[in-house]
Amino acid sequence: MSEHKIDYDLPYSPDVAERQTSDEGFSRGWGEHFQPNEAYWVDCHVHMRDKSTDVMARAVGEYFERLDAWRLRRVIALDARSFTVDAFAETGKKDDRFCWCAWPRYHEPDADFVDRAFQAGACGLKLHNAHILTEGGDYKVWLGKDWQRVFERVAAQRKPILWHVTQRLTDSPYTGGNRDSYWREARRNGLTCTNADLLEVFLQVVKRYPDIPFIGAHQLHVGFDKLDEMFERHPNLLTDTSCGFFVRWGDHLYDADRRRARQFFLRHSGRILFGTDCGIGVEATQEYVFQSFLGHVRYLRQLHLPHDVLQAVSHCNTERTFGLPELQVKRKGNVRP
Ligand SMILES: [Zn+2]
Repeated sequence: MSEHKIDYDLPYSPDVAERQTSDEGFSRGWGEHFQPNEAYWVDCHVHMRDKSTDVMARAVGEYFERLDAWRLRRVIALDARSFTVDAFAETGKKDDRFCWCAWPRYHEPDADFVDRAFQAGACGLKLHNAHILTEGGDYKVWLGKDWQRVFERVAAQRKPILWHVTQRLTDSPYTGGNRDSYWREARRNGLTCTNADLLEVFLQVVKRYPDIPFIGAHQLHVGFDKLDEMFERHPNLLTDTSCGFFVRWGDHLYDADRRRARQFFLRHSGRILFGTDCGIGVEATQEYVFQSFLGHVRYLRQLHLPHDVLQAVSHCNTERTFGLPELQVKRKGNVRP
């Protein structure tokens, strides 16, 4: 008789163990290979540039038409500016698959805009350091008193901040990333700050506002060892899976890489949020976008995470962090892939 338990190395879907005894073991062994599987994905990191409600609704419709079958249930679009906030709010009200964050740029520490966005339904804030680099801004701007007013409002509302802090140097051909993302412009602008400087300022803000969950985008472009250290020191720091946690079609993680990643995911299972950095838009280059989504899914699936950890990373962590309700899923066929 086969024994199926959720174990560290070979987890199964919980129903496999249940069938050992259910109905007096009648179906024991049926589907005994079924692995843990996500109830659904909530993608905490997509971008949306469209500006009008009609176009946005069409873009969201097109996106889910394809990705619903891959168990995507909800996205958080990060880019509502002061002039698009109403369209984001309207789209979110009509479609529960669409949530959104407000995005004030580094030179717009506007606490009233942030309040208005929260009232209209924003579930968090996005910040981005890219424009500091491309426009030659002051990377310490986040420590000034205008931004403290914004951070205080965010803390009072218990909302999270998803922050693109550092930018990649080097190419990243595996994920299709260009060389020295934004740093080329930064150098042209005469900036001398480094990724370490950007990270240091960010961590000062993280420390100053323990009530705000801060999600460092793209694993802050550091490896597991540094993340372990930072997570230890900053209980309100989280990260998303975007860009770095990616496996191309046809690839399989090497065992050693899987073991290291798995150790990290099990240790920090409450602090990693599924996110892809995909861009949603009407007639956006679709196959590119879908393969980008699937590359992130593939990485997580190949880690063979226990059921609870997979649910946490695929959607529960994002729902808890952004204050979003758990969702129902409607199955469309006899089998849900
Ligand atoms: Zn992004």
